[in-house]
Amino acid sequence: MILLFGPPGSGKGTQAAYIASRLNIPSISTGDMLRAELQLGTPLGSAASAVISSGGLVSDDLVNDMLVARLLQPDCRDGFLLDGYPRTVSQAVFLDTFLSRRKMPPPIVIHLDVPEESLISRISSRRQCPTCGRIYNLLHNPPKLDELCDLDATPLVRRKDDQEDVVRERLRAFDEITRMVESYYTGGCYHKLDGDRPAKEVSADIGKILSQHAGSGIVRGEAV
Ligand code: ADP
Ligand code: AMP
Repeated sequence: MILLFGPPGSGKGTQAAYIASRLNIPSISTGDMLRAELQLGTPLGSAASAVISSGGLVSDDLVNDMLVARLLQPDCRDGFLLDGYPRTVSQAVFLDTFLSRRKMPPPIVIHLDVPEESLISRISSRRQCPTCGRIYNLLHNPPKLDELCDLDATPLVRRKDDQEDVVRERLRAFDEITRMVESYYTGGCYHKLDGDRPAKEVSADIGKILSQHAGSGIVRGEAV
């Protein structure tokens, strides 16, 4: 299984789409899952709503339970990609226990390293299609026509938590809490990439990492 690690705006969702289509594995973003719960007005969505709007982290118990329910779905049996999880050391320990109980190897961790100035600029120009989830950027990867999705012509939206004051809090949460997850993984299958380059260059480096691990059993469902 693959784990994409990095601050908000580092390109995890963008690279997740590349990896998922290359390996034909499900891409699981805990942020997307929480936003879906919020939209459906479920008890979990209501419990997470205030925390997400303020840029903090949703409690480990809520996120872990939600994630396990997803990982137990049959499509995750042959491997999966995680985007935005784990965000705390306690979540990382929880994931390790889950994997080892199922005799699954530890993750290949890909860390997208991007400086804060780029993150803020990227996030303020991020737009997303509410229908298919495709991620755009008005500066770096604009849609072909106005602010409409290239695939289904749905008007693109800006995430509510992409407002600058909330973004600052999200970056603070990354620095104060999530950054510690990096040292949790550095002894294992850990790759730090310069994510401050065009998305295609980052994808090419990720492709090389996936090829290195092909056939190792770590990347299951490998289809290179
Ligand atoms: P994350 O999932 O880590 O929050 P996203 O994949 O949503 O990050 O990317 C944040 C914004 O930056 C999006 O608007 C995306 O189109 C843009 N982006 C992603 N990768 C790059 C890149 N390598 N260079 C410039 N912009 C990028
Ligand atoms: P993201 O889409 O990954 O940027 O996540 C959006 C928001 O969802 C974050 O700012 C958090 O409030 C919440 N969130 C997503 N994933 C997690 C997680 N693994 N742990 C705690 N909160 C999370």
